[in-house]
Amino acid sequence: MNIRDSELVAGLLLKKGYKLTDQEKEADIVLVNTCSVRKHAEDRVWSEIGKLKKRKICTGKPFIGLIGCMAQAWQQAVFDKAPLVDLVVGPNNISAIPGLLEDLEAGFGRAIAVGKEQRDAFVYNTEYISDKSHSNVNIMEGCNNFCSYCIVPYVRGRERSRDADEIIKEIKSLVKKGVKEITLLGQNVNSYNSVAVMTNDKLQMTNNVGEGLASSRKKITFTDLLKMVNDIEGLEKFDFVTSHPKDANIALFKKMAELDKCRKFLHLPVQSGSDRMLKKMNRGYTVAHYKKLAKAAKEIIPGLRLGTDVMVGFPTESEKDFEDTYQLMREIQFDAAYLFKYSPRPHTKAADLDDDISEEVKRARHQILLDYQRKLHKKKKSAE
Ligand code: SF4
Repeated sequence: MNIRDSELVAGLLLKKGYKLTDQEKEADIVLVNTCSVRKHAEDRVWSEIGKLKKRKICTGKPFIGLIGCMAQAWQQAVFDKAPLVDLVVGPNNISAIPGLLEDLEAGFGRAIAVGKEQRDAFVYNTEYISDKSHSNVNIMEGCNNFCSYCIVPYVRGRERSRDADEIIKEIKSLVKKGVKEITLLGQNVNSYNSVAVMTNDKLQMTNNVGEGLASSRKKITFTDLLKMVNDIEGLEKFDFVTSHPKDANIALFKKMAELDKCRKFLHLPVQSGSDRMLKKMNRGYTVAHYKKLAKAAKEIIPGLRLGTDVMVGFPTESEKDFEDTYQLMREIQFDAAYLFKYSPRPHTKAADLDDDISEEVKRARHQILLDYQRKLHKKKKSAE
């Protein structure tokens, strides 16, 4: 998602006549697009900004902008933590960046833009892409799930779905440029159009999933959207991330099996193999439900590759909870697994819990799963 956001920002600036460089020493402006999902990612951002210090102090350049989720999470406090930063812009405020940079260059001093409820739709029309063969296309923004460890709903805001026609128009224009493959992006793609619809100029909210869209328009579900994407002439392959186990269903699996251009890959984050942990994480499903889903997906979609996310060291995770997770991984044998150690994130419910699993235990559990997954990957590769 951040790769796509960086393209959007680059596109906005290119339209204003700025040029991109991959040589940081040549840059007059350095924008650091940030993620705050894990503390480790944040630490790396502070360190990258620190590397610019010498040049900034000696020459006054570059202007430094901290943009994205960390900007939204830290807001004004960024300037205390990193006084060399000139610009702080949240993920929904990116359309303000060109204007704020102009102000900076005109000598107006530091600026901050955060807290906008939704992005201006035009940010998706800048037409800049960094990869000519594969592109990411946002279909939704934000998240309503409030998993207890996750900062996303606080920094990216509530769930909004982009208008299907806008999405299709964007993909067609990418295909015209030579793009053959796309990935549809959203924090929870399965709930596309189930809560709110984002149109060019306003956010239409509904609490009724059945209504979904404004009455003047037909509700387009996620599986409808997949079919519309599949029908685009010239597009060769597509996939999507991320699915949520509480919303993924048989209809989705059938549609994936049916659509010839849809990659047979499903990213379905399980997070834990312990019901006790899942409840504490507010994930909204049980291990039994997840296993049923995974089994059904494998049965319905021939050649399916199943991916997941797993977190170890969530507060109070016992040896038994961890063993249940390890057992689940052995049972399901995921084709890809992103493994994480829990770290408390500000604003979240879990941040109020005692982070009582030591770093040493987190590291050891993480390593066990990593070793297992590596061995499994090797075994699967040699069997191909
Ligand atoms: S589904 Fe949960 S983990 Fe994923 S973005 Fe939403 S709150 Fe975060």
